[in-house]
Amino acid sequence: MSTQTSPTPEHAASEHTASKHVTHWIGGKPFAGEAERRGDIHEPSTGRVSGTVDFASPAEVDAAVAAARAAFPAWRDASLAARTRVLFRFRELVDAHRDELARLISSEHGKVVSDAAGEVARGLEVVEFACGIPHLLKGGFSENVSTRVDAYSILQPLGVVAGVTPFNFPAMVPMWMFPVAIACGNTFVLKPSEKDPSASVRLAELWAEAGLPDGVFNVLHGDRVAVDGLLHHPDVRAVSFVGSTPIARYVYETAARNGKRVQALGGAKNHMVVLPDADLDLAADAAVSAGFGSAGERCMAISVVVAVDPVGDELVAKIRERVAKLTVGPGDDPASDMGPLVTREHRDRVASYLDSGVAQGATLVVDGRETPVRGGRGEGFWLGPTVLDHVTPEMDAYRDEIFGPVLSVVRAGSYEAAMELLAANPYGNGTAIFTNDGGAARRFQNEVEVGMVGINVPIPVPMAYYSFGGWKDSLFGDSHAHGMEGVHFYTRTKAVTARWLDPSHGGVHLGFPTNG
Ligand code: NAD
Repeated sequence: MSTQTSPTPEHAASEHTASKHVTHWIGGKPFAGEAERRGDIHEPSTGRVSGTVDFASPAEVDAAVAAARAAFPAWRDASLAARTRVLFRFRELVDAHRDELARLISSEHGKVVSDAAGEVARGLEVVEFACGIPHLLKGGFSENVSTRVDAYSILQPLGVVAGVTPFNFPAMVPMWMFPVAIACGNTFVLKPSEKDPSASVRLAELWAEAGLPDGVFNVLHGDRVAVDGLLHHPDVRAVSFVGSTPIARYVYETAARNGKRVQALGGAKNHMVVLPDADLDLAADAAVSAGFGSAGERCMAISVVVAVDPVGDELVAKIRERVAKLTVGPGDDPASDMGPLVTREHRDRVASYLDSGVAQGATLVVDGRETPVRGGRGEGFWLGPTVLDHVTPEMDAYRDEIFGPVLSVVRAGSYEAAMELLAANPYGNGTAIFTNDGGAARRFQNEVEVGMVGINVPIPVPMAYYSFGGWKDSLFGDSHAHGMEGVHFYTRTKAVTARWLDPSHGGVHLGFPTNG
């Protein structure tokens, strides 16, 4: 049974016969299972259905978790040297297959190949971080905490851990999670987005080639049934989630209710504040790059430019000039700056904000519905870069996470007014300030309630050895992804107090242990 509704006649005309079939990866090999339900995979630049993906049933969730559970004891006890050898080999293989992975991502997601290669590179950095796991897992040791008594701490893996990931980074976001989890000695079940599932299976094949024992890394495809199965499974010890805020909240509450450790990263509405002293050419470059890269389908995309008086008109003119030079076209065409959106439904939803924005009083400076598409518009899920000016906080275009190529410009009378806007926004993923005033930048970094801050850097994605995560409705839980927070999330600490007995330790003492 396909979960997809029947195509409309005009849509059907552009669809070819499905050519690939993506199935689960369980216990070190493809796992066909029952496949009672399937979803369609689209090629966003043509609109055609390029394949189908199996959706897991509860029995298949059980099979994936059972494989991970069976693999855990041996992997937990594998030496750090053995684990890191596999990680280094995996690093080399992902590096060698960068281009292939990027093309695979582009074909299902729509983003341009160079951008997809960028996400593979950023994911690879987390693998490289995880290659240092012997150093990262060192506990503490204190000699003689009491007379001839030593105390030390050890970091141990949790067991089976699960990751649930969004469509917009089908390689990078899973790679925020599983390299660190696996390096720490856990076994992993990944439930990637059903919209672009192939990259995760290719990564599973590369793990196998790297020598990872069967069952340590499993991929389970599907929808809510698969996710719910993981959230309720007694053998799943921790859940990492990245996706939209309503689902992040649901995953956080459900997993926590079931006694699991959980980190759930949600949606975003990232503001870029441009102060009057900023270099407006550089600010306009940054706003356009960060607003329209990956067609705005990035959780760190800039979706709101806050122009502090009096720079609004000049900044918008410079943004408009740059947008006019962008080339929209298929992701595999090297001339394209920006590809299509991920699905027809998402494109239509994003486009609806153009009408609602204008109806609610915004000015449509650039209308992406009119953007020419290189190679023809066809049935692809196209929407060109769009700029809405004079947006205000009451408008839907401001309140909702649009997650597409729509850049809103809000005018603010002062730095303080800009800060009030950010403080009132429920999201707190990323933000940026553009200024040449070090004092203003320092004040912003100190005051703003956002997890990731850029100073003249529009997309401040932390390096692998720092941790990625927002504040407020952009993250539920208290651990950010990768870096040391990732290591702590995927381990639990044991504190040991030891003494090796000799006659001086004799005698019965009922008092609470104190040091002496
Ligand atoms: P989504 O929330 O629709 O889906 C994310 C995952 O949850 C997918 O694997 C999906 O299959 C699953 N899912 C969907 N509905 C579910 C339900 N009702 N119950 C259980 N599971 C469900 O998100 P998306 O559309 O794939 O991705 C875009 C969103 O992800 C945006 O909101 C974006 O901001 C966010 N995102 C956030 C970050 C971050 O670091 N904070 C990073 C990337 C993307």
